[in-house]
Amino acid sequence: MFNAVIRRKLSSASNGALTILQYHKVPLCAPEYIEGEVLASDFSWGLEQFKEWFNFLPLDEAIHRLKIHDLPPRSAVLSFDDGYADWFDHVVPALLEHKVPATFFVTSAQLNCSKPFWHERVAVALAKRGVDRLPQEFNFATSAGGAEIGLAQTIIAVQNHLKYLPLAEREAAIAVLEADLPLSGDYRPFRSADLIRLRDAGFQIGGHSRHHPILTSCDATQAKDEIGGCKEELEGILREPVTAFAYPNGRPDCDFNASHVALVEAVGYRHAVTTAPGVSRSDTDPFQLPRFTPWARSSWRSALQFLRNMRVSPKMVKV
Ligand SMILES: [Zn+2]
Repeated sequence: MFNAVIRRKLSSASNGALTILQYHKVPLCAPEYIEGEVLASDFSWGLEQFKEWFNFLPLDEAIHRLKIHDLPPRSAVLSFDDGYADWFDHVVPALLEHKVPATFFVTSAQLNCSKPFWHERVAVALAKRGVDRLPQEFNFATSAGGAEIGLAQTIIAVQNHLKYLPLAEREAAIAVLEADLPLSGDYRPFRSADLIRLRDAGFQIGGHSRHHPILTSCDATQAKDEIGGCKEELEGILREPVTAFAYPNGRPDCDFNASHVALVEAVGYRHAVTTAPGVSRSDTDPFQLPRFTPWARSSWRSALQFLRNMRVSPKMVKV
């Protein structure tokens, strides 16, 4: 009864629009200093609930059917960003069990890498040091409005600061944070073989840049290498065309601009997703498809979030 009511409401609110959901690592558990991570238990609950409300389609098929006005009611696409070995712990088995398609957007230079993603290295280094033992240049991140803040907030502040630095500067700053700290031995890289395993299980692989820079912090040559080089690297492994791209960090104007939208099309991708909230309609720019992450942990709240997201007019860069 409840699900039937929600389906009716979603059908009328979406009115032929496509909802694309965005997730990241979805680990089995996370340390207490990581805030806001969607855990495997949250994802499982969401998948079972959302399956009652939406028709999940592969991204390519959904975009094609959106354009020809043939999208089933309450259509949705699942997507995951970055590239984590953790995906095989829970996400992949759950998707296979429920027969739900998904697209995995992968940062190609991170494949087979012996170190975790830069933002995870920052979190681990800060947790090991503690906020009172930070190198001086990071003192800006230990207080907000004059008040001291805890480890979780300090991690977010440092990550937000480093995120917008050019790649070489970001790496140098992380090296300062990691100096003299013992290396963790428990990192599991996401490997080329994992990419093939995902594809062979029926999932779509998309590009997510080579090194996950903020594209607006890159010069034109570097941006082309990040967008086109990622496609080439992934296609070299998969031996098939990679048609979809996810802008790193994904906020229109702030993290990418019109030149990057043009580049994504020029190097041969067929569509791209952002992190602007909202839903896609038949006239939405296929290179700026909005995405949304439901974070509520109750059915009513999730339903309200989906309904609200359907009323959002997605932010786009002018092309
Ligand atoms: Zn990402």
